Amino acid sequence: MKEQLAKIRAEALAAFSSAQTAAELDALRVQYLGKKGELTAVLKQMGRLSAEERPVMGQLANEVRAALEQALEEMGSKLEEAALDAQLKAETVDVTIPGNVQKIGHKHPMYIALDEIKDIFVGMGFTVLDGPEIELASYNFDKLNAEEGHPSRDWSDTFYFDKDSRVMLRSQTSPMQVRAMETMELPIRIIAPGRVYRKDEVDATHSPMFHQVEGMVIDKGVTMADLKGTLNTVIEKLYGEGTITRFRPHHFPFTEPSCEMDIQCHKCGGHGCPTCKGEGWIEVLGAGMIHPNVLRMSGIDPEEYSGWAFGMGLERMAMGRFKIADLRLIFENDVRFLEQF
Ligand SMILES: [Zn+2]
Repeated sequence: MKEQLAKIRAEALAAFSSAQTAAELDALRVQYLGKKGELTAVLKQMGRLSAEERPVMGQLANEVRAALEQALEEMGSKLEEAALDAQLKAETVDVTIPGNVQKIGHKHPMYIALDEIKDIFVGMGFTVLDGPEIELASYNFDKLNAEEGHPSRDWSDTFYFDKDSRVMLRSQTSPMQVRAMETMELPIRIIAPGRVYRKDEVDATHSPMFHQVEGMVIDKGVTMADLKGTLNTVIEKLYGEGTITRFRPHHFPFTEPSCEMDIQCHKCGGHGCPTCKGEGWIEVLGAGMIHPNVLRMSGIDPEEYSGWAFGMGLERMAMGRFKIADLRLIFENDVRFLEQF
């Protein structure tokens, strides 16, 4: 039995040290130390030994077991280290390989146009305001001189939230005029860009959701000349120096007198073409002197103060600025279109 143990010890240690992988080593562990392993088999013969031999053999067997276990442990950690080294070598990053190019987006053309508009107005001392898209009809209509019965209040034109027509998706950014008049110190110079909603079918020039930029100036002695001078400056900065404009009389409930501003068609120079529908002019915004009633309703004395206001469609400005033919392109998020800007 002594020889058997010595033989197992020598064979096992030799086998352990030649193991190449952790799996191989584990198989060897089972082969020698497992329940049906070689060392276990020898120990099972202990019963046949005499009472004197048994403790001696027992001690020897324990020594062999301890030696094998220690060898297993040492070999195990050696293999583990080797495996880690191999993994590190295999996963080495080659920093000289060209990387994957990440596509970086850019600003939407409409917001490029909006940023230009904001820059121009801020440069002239205007403050940019933001306001709620869910608005009270009193701000969207009443305080802007559009009383009950005004056609723009009709259910066919407006998204109301309640049957009493008191809460709605704002149909214009003009409520911000009222909010500014109620909360800001005079004199006031503001623009208020934002989304507005109307019950329009989608086509090349209409959408139920679109954007406006509202602007307003209130001070002592403000006249139509200020309105024309300011808006002409803005349009020249947006569309280029020498852009020819004209003001046509119009009607809005919240301004008196009211006007619409056109620019001469940049495509045909005023001769008439498909872009301007043969008219030679393209409408860009509505404006006017703030109606005395509107000032009065917001607690401003129209005898002392006067003001002007305008509202322009942001999509239309972007379409003119970037020569975009169809409004739907602005909202479709087709990257083939957006990448062109
Ligand atoms: Zn034209």
